[in-house]
Amino acid sequence: MIMSCETSMKIMTTPSLVSKHPKMGTTIFTVMSALAAESGAVNLGQGFPDFDCDEKLVSDVTAAMQEGLNQYPPMTGVLPLRQAVSEKIKTLYGHQYDVNTEITITAGATQAILTIMLAVVHPGDEVIVLEPCYDSYVPNIDMAGGTVVRVPLTPGTFRPDFDRIQAAICPKTRAILINSPHNPSGMVWRHEDMLKLQEILAPTQVLLISDEVYEHMVYAPLQHHSASSYPGLAARAFVVSSFGKSYHVTGWKVGTVAAPVALTAEFRKVHQFNVFTVNTPVQHGLARYMKDPQPYLNLPAFYQRKRDLFRAGLARTQFKMLPGEGTYFQCVDISELSVPEKNLGESEFCKWLTKEVGVAAIPMSAFYGDSFDQHVIRFCFAKKDTTLNAAIERLSRL
Ligand code: PMP
Ligand code: GLN
Repeated sequence: MIMSCETSMKIMTTPSLVSKHPKMGTTIFTVMSALAAESGAVNLGQGFPDFDCDEKLVSDVTAAMQEGLNQYPPMTGVLPLRQAVSEKIKTLYGHQYDVNTEITITAGATQAILTIMLAVVHPGDEVIVLEPCYDSYVPNIDMAGGTVVRVPLTPGTFRPDFDRIQAAICPKTRAILINSPHNPSGMVWRHEDMLKLQEILAPTQVLLISDEVYEHMVYAPLQHHSASSYPGLAARAFVVSSFGKSYHVTGWKVGTVAAPVALTAEFRKVHQFNVFTVNTPVQHGLARYMKDPQPYLNLPAFYQRKRDLFRAGLARTQFKMLPGEGTYFQCVDISELSVPEKNLGESEFCKWLTKEVGVAAIPMSAFYGDSFDQHVIRFCFAKKDTTLNAAIERLSRL
């Protein structure tokens, strides 16, 4: 059929769309990585290792593929991986999760957290986040129709402020989201903090979402305190972790959610129609690799050495370091720098640092709803020593 020019133009016109998410932009990590690449900068912005994972892990996944483990796995994840995860949690944190009804393999922690929100948050429910917080939390709550309640962490130390947490809880509160070790500050919750949270939540129906993706990056003398170790928390918690962080494979996007049977059942209702499941050979490869606990048990020492190397370098610059208790992030205060650009605001300063000094960083303001600016920026030290030394060399010129 021959169409008139006018008709074919109409057919080809994209319907006008009212944005459903008008306030959502592109994540700061994508923006800063693009700017780093464009500027030829050392990228200490987005959190990912610039070194390879263990060759054995690649061989384990390859072997699974070659053995023909390439079709759909069970919706919940392959049994050997659920078993390995359950055993690990039991050994490290003392809680037994049922492999069939309480552990689910996800497409990374990002999918896990969105799926939790979609599964449990009813329109109008309140969800408490502790600011600064990871950038997907708030959009995830919005997508679920929930109301975000922002409670600040204590300024300067980033420690939980339990009076404010307590004050934020009301009959509309559906859940509270915590993250230790904490991105971006690196702060680690203490045993007493977990006990206090357990006490505050005990008389309530509030669910806990515990983002523990950096569980294996806590530096001596501190240790990780998982929500799963506290019976009163475990009974109400979705505990989220990520293989991307623990095994240097952020691009594989595989994570886990451990939660009591009733919570897991609701989680899986959404998970099955969200991603259904996660790629098979990677799951089998991870299960085989997990038989040896050394890789994750060695991780604190591995990253502690990198943190110390990076901090020793930073000590020779004008940047003022904040504590680095956990994660692979190191935050610094820029207010004492001698360059006038320190007054640009964190976000513009990071762009300037990337373009003019050749080191990319992330502004802490990106982790706040109101872009609160405290002259602090975040560096990622999950990098080869040569990368860290190159960054220090550039930062020392300031
Ligand atoms: N939570 C936090 C605190 C993170 O830093 C990240 C990503 N680095 C995630 C969740 C998402 O993890 P994943 O890459 O497994 O989706
Ligand atoms: N979590 C990583 C960070 O904080 C980034 C992950 C991402 O780019 N989505 O840097």
